[in-house]
Amino acid sequence: MFGNWGKFIRVDMATGNIKVESWGEEVAKKWLGSRGLGIYLMLKEVDPKTDPLSPQNKLIIAAGPLTGTSAPTAARYNVITKSPLTGYITFSNSGGYWGAELKRAGYDAVIIENSSETPKYLFIKDEHIELRDASKLWGLKMSETEAELKKTHNDQNLKVLGIGPAGEKLVKFSSIMNDIHRAAGRGGVGAVMGSKKLKAIAVRGSKNVPLADHEKFMLEVREKVNKIRSDPVGGGGLPKYGTAVLVNIINENGLYPYKNFQYLQFEHAYEQSGEAMVKKYLVRNKPCFACPIGCGRVNKLPTIGETEGPEYESTWALGSNMGINDLAAIIEANHMADEYGFDTISLGGTLATAMELYEKKLIKDEDLGDFPPPRFGNTEVLHYYIEKIAKREGFGDKLAEGGYRLAKMYNGEYYFMGVKKMELPAYDPRGAEGHGLGYATNNRGGCHIKNYMISPEILGYPKKMDPHDISDEKVKMLITFQDLTAVIDAAGLCLFSTFGLWADDYRDLLNAALGWNYSTEDYLKIGERIWNAERLFNLRAGMKPQEEDTLPKRFLEEPAPNGPNKGRVVRLKEMLPRYYALRGWTQEGLIPEDKLKELELL
Ligand code: SF4
Repeated sequence: MFGNWGKFIRVDMATGNIKVESWGEEVAKKWLGSRGLGIYLMLKEVDPKTDPLSPQNKLIIAAGPLTGTSAPTAARYNVITKSPLTGYITFSNSGGYWGAELKRAGYDAVIIENSSETPKYLFIKDEHIELRDASKLWGLKMSETEAELKKTHNDQNLKVLGIGPAGEKLVKFSSIMNDIHRAAGRGGVGAVMGSKKLKAIAVRGSKNVPLADHEKFMLEVREKVNKIRSDPVGGGGLPKYGTAVLVNIINENGLYPYKNFQYLQFEHAYEQSGEAMVKKYLVRNKPCFACPIGCGRVNKLPTIGETEGPEYESTWALGSNMGINDLAAIIEANHMADEYGFDTISLGGTLATAMELYEKKLIKDEDLGDFPPPRFGNTEVLHYYIEKIAKREGFGDKLAEGGYRLAKMYNGEYYFMGVKKMELPAYDPRGAEGHGLGYATNNRGGCHIKNYMISPEILGYPKKMDPHDISDEKVKMLITFQDLTAVIDAAGLCLFSTFGLWADDYRDLLNAALGWNYSTEDYLKIGERIWNAERLFNLRAGMKPQEEDTLPKRFLEEPAPNGPNKGRVVRLKEMLPRYYALRGWTQEGLIPEDKLKELELL
């Protein structure tokens, strides 16, 4: 087997048992690895009706066949589990260096099952695997956890993945962090790790990922790196200004949400843009493993010194969406979110929901206890609330449940801007309707990154499409994006590599690494299988497509109040039946038996 090692570590947190198990080429040919391997195992081993925070849920952390190779952006691993935020499947991924180190240790994945009584951490050094006491680490922030583990093992090159206090307290939108500032954020995967009482996984490896044809692979790598480097976004905007280069572009196009999506443009957006960040705070870029793009930022503030981020989503979630425009305060809030282990999108979305509920007088002063009022634009509230949510103190305990449950507590579901209970990211779909269809149909809820239609609708990748065209061609492009992204995730690459590469490029890299002769269509079929398998898990978990493949009413009924998209709503009703048909599903959004057979899911 090439690319993948064909080995994963299974850890039983209840008994402390550790096993190394094999998986074979037959599985890889159908699922590729990482996100694909994760859903394959979840369908096989986890009852979809399981309570996500019970010992019966499993936490699968999996690298792909290209993770740890020199393929451009080959840094990623996925966390696949049942989400405590949505009650459905989630597959959060992260870059940095941890995923590559796991591969260098000789494993493709770690599967965590059951729950421990006391805190533990997992230590992996090649063949040496050990579950150790983590009582002293429990309660520590991410930088403290990493420092302690490096000291304990006397190894400054140890790569550490773990949870912060938010994950320990089972905050429903807590993340798993690695390399301190890199997050597998979405869907509350940190809480699942917390429920198993697993604080961290420290890993060190010394092997090279096995490749089928090293020479051919390196030729492909060189060609793909050149393609990315000569692309205006992959080799220009992203390295120069980071992902926050999008702030001005998205704002100018009139879909940069302001004050919980009440408005679609923010007049001070420039002040929190990637350009402003470079001018005022950037120290240097920080690429993930094997990345020629280097969108990561190291910024410096007098208050906290050097820190990493924020990227575009965090800048918006902790900024414009709460009516906040103090870039230093946003950077500091992002730093706190990393240290405590939060998904910044859901953190900002939940706080923005609270702010609108307060503005609309559904949350009243007497509900807040001694908390300051959550008013739009109040920076001090932001920092105060982040700490209280992580510790689940006072009103923070309610916020820790996420925006949907908070809105429900105060009879204000209308003001929750999310899909399938997950808070939406930084694009108002009234300005990009295909992107809106992506939100509505995403297997893990309100997510942009698994169907990034902003690429064709705003940025022109792989070709420019009118953001208000809702033809079949647009719907087909969404389906291609969903399937291709599943392949990119399963391979272990970063989605930003699409700023330079497209489907045939991934085929070439994978074939050279794996020794296969797959066509582009074969790989897209794997992507389709992964997408359908994830939906199958959700349907078995009880998802009701007719009610849940939808968007917040604001986007369907409230015409956009400002900017170039003024007067627009999302015509979801017109697109959804055609999406179902083009997917080969029933008009109720179910997967028929012949489709399941075709994808070998029966
Ligand atoms: S593009 Fe950015 S997030 Fe993606 S691998 Fe490179 S540095 Fe990491």
